[in-house]
Amino acid sequence: MFPLTSLVRPNIQALKPYSCARDEFKGKDASVFLDANENPYNNPLNRYPDPLQEELKAKLAPMKDVLPGQIFLGNGSDEAIDLIYRVFCEPRVDNVVAIAPTYGMYQVCADINDVEYRAVPLTEQFQPDVDALLAATDGHTKVIWLCSPNNPTGNCLEPAAIQHVLTDFEGIVVVDEAYSDFSDKQPFRTQLAKYPNIIVLNTFSKLWASASIRLGMAFASADIIALMNKVKYPYNVNLLTQEKAAEVLADMPRIANWRAILLRERAQMLPAFAELPVCSKVYPTDANFFLARVVKADRIYQYLVTRGIIVRNRSQVQLCNDCLRITIGTPQENNALLAAMRQYRP
Ligand SMILES: *Cc1c(COP(=O)(O)O)cnc(C)c1O
Repeated sequence: MFPLTSLVRPNIQALKPYSCARDEFKGKDASVFLDANENPYNNPLNRYPDPLQEELKAKLAPMKDVLPGQIFLGNGSDEAIDLIYRVFCEPRVDNVVAIAPTYGMYQVCADINDVEYRAVPLTEQFQPDVDALLAATDGHTKVIWLCSPNNPTGNCLEPAAIQHVLTDFEGIVVVDEAYSDFSDKQPFRTQLAKYPNIIVLNTFSKLWASASIRLGMAFASADIIALMNKVKYPYNVNLLTQEKAAEVLADMPRIANWRAILLRERAQMLPAFAELPVCSKVYPTDANFFLARVVKADRIYQYLVTRGIIVRNRSQVQLCNDCLRITIGTPQENNALLAAMRQYRP
């Protein structure tokens, strides 16, 4: 048995969550709603939205190969990241371990929640050192943060390494798969039954082209999802977002087409960028961006700004000195970047 209860903060385990009007009566069939102090006029936005977003989860579940009860929806993945700290980590007592470099929000949320963050460097190949990750844990380590494909490095972590962490660590393992749509590797999202301690993150912000509606997903055992639902704000995903998300899901061929275009562009961009005289290395990528090591990243970044082209300067990040992170854009945008780079004089 996975000891989930012993990982949860005692106050959260004991918490009696806020019970909202929409929890007490869930049906849609009534015609007179006098339970939530809403204004009866001003349709269509006068009513509180479904606090558990059940219609949306019913649509998402078969697409993601999970059960509706294994889905948490939040205000971006960032809400799920923050909630994981608030559910599991006692401030100033517990700690988390993470690969480095990786997505910055894991550390920001740790700092906000006053939870010690232990960063363990990736190898030169940007793979996790599993022994070092496990050695960094102690009796107060509640979470290990993994991200695959990883941001900003772009590569997938070796599935065997992720598996090793999942089986050898007795706390929560988060696998952030924000970019898994761009990878051929089998996502860990489909293995919830095998790993009772996994939380997988996905998002509407990347391939699904909906960063502005702020909708993130977490997939985990129904028990873990219930804890996250207990702590979240009652109406954390607004009605406009829920409706817009349903529209996005109704046109998957459009998304598949974008994916094909972006993967084709990626395949063309990597060798083209690698050929630039100022580029010393393009790292392999499984995401919709790539990391490139260049001569004087700061200078190239500034030059591109003067040409109206913005990339991400990652040169201050551990293991990424003189690296730029470049998103795959439209063919026109990618060509604009290459043309500007070919005109660059060091
Ligand atoms: C972009 C990104 C996300 C998405 O965050 P949202 O809050 O859902 O927009 C999550 N994880 C990683 C690693 C990312 O790069």
